[in-house]
Amino acid sequence: MNERSEISELKGVGEKTTRLFHRIGVRTVGDLIRYYPRTYEVFEDPVCIGEVCEGRTCTVTGTVFGRIQVSGNRSMQVTTLWLKDLTGTLKVIWFRMPFLRTTLGKGGTLTLRGRVLRKKDGLVMEHPEIYYPSEKYEDKRNSVQPVYALTAGLTNNAVIKAVRQALPYADKRQDVLPAYLTRKFHFPPYSEAVSRMHFPENKEDFAEARKRFVFEEFLVFILSLRKMRERENRVRNNFCFCDKPEIERFLRALPYRLTEAQKRVWDEIRKDMQGEYVMSRLVQGDVGSGKTVIAFLALLLAGLNGYQGALMAPTEVLARQHFENISGMLTEYGLPISAELLTGSMTAKQKREAYGRIESGEAAIVIGTHALIQEKAVYRNLALVVTDEQHRFGVKQREALAGKGNMPHILVMSATPIPRTLAIILYGDLDISVIDEMPKNRLPIKNCVVDTGYRKKAYQFMKKQTEEGRQCYVICPMVEESEAMEAENVLGYSEMLSEIMGDTVRVGCLHGRMKQQEKDEVMEAFGNNEIQILVSTTVVEVGIDVPNATVIMIENAERFGLAQLHQLRGRVGRGKYQSYCIFMTASKSDETKERLDILNHSNDGFFIAGEDLRLRGPGDLFGIRQSGIMDFKVGDVFQDSLILRQAAEAAGEILREDSKMEKPENTRLFAALEKYMTDQNLESTL
Ligand code: ADP
Ligand code: MG
Repeated sequence: MNERSEISELKGVGEKTTRLFHRIGVRTVGDLIRYYPRTYEVFEDPVCIGEVCEGRTCTVTGTVFGRIQVSGNRSMQVTTLWLKDLTGTLKVIWFRMPFLRTTLGKGGTLTLRGRVLRKKDGLVMEHPEIYYPSEKYEDKRNSVQPVYALTAGLTNNAVIKAVRQALPYADKRQDVLPAYLTRKFHFPPYSEAVSRMHFPENKEDFAEARKRFVFEEFLVFILSLRKMRERENRVRNNFCFCDKPEIERFLRALPYRLTEAQKRVWDEIRKDMQGEYVMSRLVQGDVGSGKTVIAFLALLLAGLNGYQGALMAPTEVLARQHFENISGMLTEYGLPISAELLTGSMTAKQKREAYGRIESGEAAIVIGTHALIQEKAVYRNLALVVTDEQHRFGVKQREALAGKGNMPHILVMSATPIPRTLAIILYGDLDISVIDEMPKNRLPIKNCVVDTGYRKKAYQFMKKQTEEGRQCYVICPMVEESEAMEAENVLGYSEMLSEIMGDTVRVGCLHGRMKQQEKDEVMEAFGNNEIQILVSTTVVEVGIDVPNATVIMIENAERFGLAQLHQLRGRVGRGKYQSYCIFMTASKSDETKERLDILNHSNDGFFIAGEDLRLRGPGDLFGIRQSGIMDFKVGDVFQDSLILRQAAEAAGEILREDSKMEKPENTRLFAALEKYMTDQNLESTL
């Protein structure tokens, strides 16, 4: 027998069990060896009855107190006993096991292990395993038992038995990980590692083995991304970009100088666009780091070279803002190209006219929302596609837009402050540029976390700011389930605030249920300082840029995620004035306090994202979880970020040293890679 043998060759695995194994994807002995447990049961030390916790599996030792009772009808007999130790008594019930009354009624101590639930009459342990007399538990105590993913008819014990038989046939020749890596990272050898994955003796034992397979999994994944990128990068650059004097003129005419980081990133982009291959680049930078001007430069370069460039924004408000901005600059700096706006809320006639100018090529720069990828939008010679705040778009949409041109350059702008290692994973098909410097004229935002008793003072403060010519945002929470309520909140609030502020201050409001035209009007009025205080839902979250705004007050701050609060706060501190962020919360919970404290003490998006991760654990940071890319069998990109980095480095080294994939020590690894890419259908989906 070896790893390739059919599962049916194992003892005790007959025709029926074979079929069940096939159903869970296990066909060979090797498959079974790599069928790792879903989780493990740890047989922990018993706890005192006074210490059992609701919702947890606990082990307790005690004596039977009083009589064991059997109640219920014949189809569902319930056996109840009270277990007692020095610290208290616990109610325990079993279903359909009336015989327990006799077997357990003989005196002496017993150990029970089961889940404790809260019922009407207090804590109850339901249907526990029985160790009687309690010495029987000693054999299991502190051991770890595998729990496998099963299918109807297949028991955990059957899998355990089969795995025990299969493990001795673990063959290091089937090991995917090259020996030099196993040595380098001091991983346990293959056969030992698989055996520890199934039957670890303790947690440390398991952790070591698991690390090896997490590493292997990440390594294969990262290699596949790199290979894919290599393939993509081979797409030749169809366009001919040359430097234009207008760009230099524009940069000199800007009211500010680019930061060193902006210069560096712009340089990378320019080189990409003039390079041999098509660009796929992600620009990452914290809110307010000045990504927009970089996108504009790239669009300008496309336009000046006689091509078209498109910029896709996640919201209409943002698309319009970008459009106004760029058309303003085109006029102001006398640049000989024209821009076009295309959004879903435009009238049919407006759209028709826009389509016409896009198709004829008259519009060199096209800015819009999803409307840009609608069927009717036909481009003349699209050479550059920019997506703003990309985390709101899927890869599919990016591709759809790219499909509008003949292999255009792709530029993705993102403020999502994810650690670089994660970015590599998430955007594995892209090169990454980071704007890691803020414009120099900025003063750090001053933060405070206050309770609702401070509202009055906050209003006075905002009024004073408006008297000095500044503007403010007030954010009310959005209740997603109830759009109606959302509007009401903002409406009621702005009316109330308007009254408090008096005639000299104009208060406007903005929410998702308003018509697009109304939204645009409000944003425009706010942009022109005709509205001084804007009460809004989170629709202003991304991208909005009104540098004159200096205060943002966030009501019910406890309802928002840290990353979202950071994005919201990024609406202020965008100009030369001192800006302020007021987190308002009525919540007194420690958790809220700790979370808001992080924001209170830091304005650094990357730091905040890291802390968010620490507090929430491997939850769904920025919804990354749902993207499906993160579905690893063993690994967890958040928990195992260190291994992820090691795997990324190893992948880089392997591709450098063995770019043709022909070294014999890497053969198994590359075979696994090929299989992985085929299984995942990676070429077509990413
Ligand atoms: P984000 O990176 O969040 O998209 P923006 O591109 O909207 O940030 O820039 C925020 C503000 O900073 C804008 O008002 C922009 O004009 C300004 N800005 C951009 N670059 C600089 C710079 N180098 N110096 C000063 N201000 C800048
Ligand atoms: Mg932006």
